Amino acid sequence: MGYSRKLGPPIVSAAVATIVLTNFATVTIVKAQGDPGLELFAAIWPIALTSAVAIILVMSFLYSSLLELVHELENREQAAQHQAMHDQLTGLANRPLLEDRLNQALTRVRRDGASVALLALDLDRFKQVNDTLGHAAGDLLVQQVGERLKSLLRETDTVARIGGDEFAIIQSAPKNEGDVRRLCARIIEAIGEPFVLGGREARVGVSVGAVMPGRDAADAAELLRKADITMYRAKAAGRNCYRLFSEEMDAAVQRRDQVEIALREALGSGDGLDLHFQAQLDARGAVTGAEALLRWRHPALGDVAPREVVPVAEECGLIDQLGTFIFRRACRAAKAWPNLSMAVNLSAMQFRREDLPGRLHRIAAEEGVSCEQIELEITEKLFVDHSEACEGWISQLRSSGFRVALDDFGTGYSSLSHLRRFQVDKIKLDRSLLDTARPSDGIAFIAAAVTVGHAMQTEVVAEGVANKAQEKVALDAGCDGVQGNLYAPPLSEADFGEFLKRKSSRRLAA
Ligand code: C2E
Ligand code: CA
Ligand code: CA
Repeated sequence: MGYSRKLGPPIVSAAVATIVLTNFATVTIVKAQGDPGLELFAAIWPIALTSAVAIILVMSFLYSSLLELVHELENREQAAQHQAMHDQLTGLANRPLLEDRLNQALTRVRRDGASVALLALDLDRFKQVNDTLGHAAGDLLVQQVGERLKSLLRETDTVARIGGDEFAIIQSAPKNEGDVRRLCARIIEAIGEPFVLGGREARVGVSVGAVMPGRDAADAAELLRKADITMYRAKAAGRNCYRLFSEEMDAAVQRRDQVEIALREALGSGDGLDLHFQAQLDARGAVTGAEALLRWRHPALGDVAPREVVPVAEECGLIDQLGTFIFRRACRAAKAWPNLSMAVNLSAMQFRREDLPGRLHRIAAEEGVSCEQIELEITEKLFVDHSEACEGWISQLRSSGFRVALDDFGTGYSSLSHLRRFQVDKIKLDRSLLDTARPSDGIAFIAAAVTVGHAMQTEVVAEGVANKAQEKVALDAGCDGVQGNLYAPPLSEADFGEFLKRKSSRRLAA
């Protein structure tokens, strides 16, 4: 734009100057007849004038061509700039432009105490649309989502597409948290309405994470990271909902990252990872087995509980390695106690691996332990997502010789019909059922599970028995076995050996 404005004035002034000079020369010649110099001038001025006019004509032609060229260059430059800063498919801002605007907004926040919110959005079930209706429909969906988002925002807000089905919004000057929440809710409502894609209807949802930076806000990248963490929280909370960022979330994510790094190291070196063993007893109090439980003490992170480690291992692809470590260690310990069964917990992801029976079988053989001594504990959550496949997996493991126990039975996913459908060797009733503060429903459920279990020739044991009252509930209901701190907490391998010796000497003395 600037070039044409700059070039115009010199050429216009040159033309004006030529015309003025020509008029001046004509007037002078007419006034000074008889002067020899002027006579010469009179002879050549028509040629000079013609040349000047020709020059002006050529120059104006050149000028207009140049103007055209400059215009074209300017247009191309604008198009290139737009392309560099916008998403091709939707025409929305792209990540670099978003970051640029975010940094400008953050400057205003720091300087004037202005307010701003950043929202990270990720569509739910986008993959399903792509898979079932095709990529062209997926593209249409993304475009329509962009349109819907734009229609919810003000001129001063920015909406950007920052990935396949990921969007981000800069909400300018929200008055308070309520404003941000309202926008999130409107987005979820708008995206939840059906889309028509090439004549077919599709429904998706959206998970939203929002963050409102304070005056101490860092840069755009940091803010995007926080919005992303929050969005994943919304996804984990069941999708199609929003969350606002809190510092605790950040601490949790940092801790998770530290656990991942430390776990990689620990699996490489084997340092700090260990198993403890908790006794399992029959209804008469004789020890029949042990459950192997993961223990991990890290020099900087302290004791990291299995409930924290296992999900991290699943998320970062370390579960096979961790599972193999646990299984091998448990087999080695089992070898020292050949009369006891050894229970090993399998995580859901580990359980779903196709080659699992073969792999476990091989490790047990390498460690010189028979599969019949090993009991694999799986949880019922598996049945919810993989009901069909589960029957096959369980029967494969059982036909390889392993016993299979259903862990945490009664924790919300339970259905007594599962017991009829999936043949297992043992049911472990969750310790929440023994909550003696609210005993009535727990006892009724325990009694029902014992009845169904026994009808299926399945052993039923009560877990987390911590006192005599709970023991009474379990035994009165007809449980075949018990496990819990009342008998022994999880013990190191050496301490468990000592515990067994004490138990057997007491029995001998009795
Ligand atoms: P779980 O399989 O239900 O294991 C029993 C949990 O209850 C253990 O917690 C045990 O220490 C605890 N417990 C036992 N008796 C009592 C009691 O009387 N009172 C109370 N309050 N608690 C009792 P832990 O070791 O923290 O393990 C928690 C969960 O982590 C386990 O629940 C299991 O799901 C998982 N886990 C533990 N070790 C492993 C492992 O090696 N592999 C996998 N995949 N998961 C494991
Ligand atoms: Ca267990
Ligand atoms: Ca359990």
